[in-house]
Amino acid sequence: MLENKRVMAEETTAGCCCGNDAGEGSRGTEKRLGWHEYFMSVAHLISRRATCTRGHIGAVIVRDHSILSTGYNGAPSGLPHCNETNCRIYRSTHPDGTVEENCVNTIHAEINAIAQAAKHGVSISDSDIYITASPCIHCLKVLINVGIKTIYYDKPYKIEHIAELLRLSGIRLVQVHVEEGDKGCTC
Ligand SMILES: [Zn+2]
Ligand SMILES: [Zn+2]
Repeated sequence: MLENKRVMAEETTAGCCCGNDAGEGSRGTEKRLGWHEYFMSVAHLISRRATCTRGHIGAVIVRDHSILSTGYNGAPSGLPHCNETNCRIYRSTHPDGTVEENCVNTIHAEINAIAQAAKHGVSISDSDIYITASPCIHCLKVLINVGIKTIYYDKPYKIEHIAELLRLSGIRLVQVHVEEGDKGCTC
């Protein structure tokens, strides 16, 4: 099920989360992050740990407003990180004829989040996931099997490739776009 919903920040009279006083003149105009913005902003922050040159993606698995697990894309633990010289790109052709490029070294962010939960014995059934980009078809298949209910994504990535699987599985895909200025405190 594909939904396209932009989630806006909640207005509040609270001061900035960083604790800095914005001053009397601006009191009442500070906005508090809504839950969707909050978790997507965390996903963007986590993406900054990614190492593959193909792109930096972050993922956060959430249930009942609590973070259960996180992940970013990169090489398996203890193995060399990707960089400009050892990122090993391979090409694959989708049944519709479009060519996709991926890196042999890299585990995708959402799979790493699932692996972290498995490692620590955290159940993620009936949870939601926030990802900075919509999942590839391979990750989507795993997200279905671990019991993810809703996938929230920021940037679309080849959504046409996963449309049929979304429809057949019933898993929800919802866009949560976070504006650049909302990704962190600028005080
Ligand atoms: Zn790579
Ligand atoms: Zn993937």
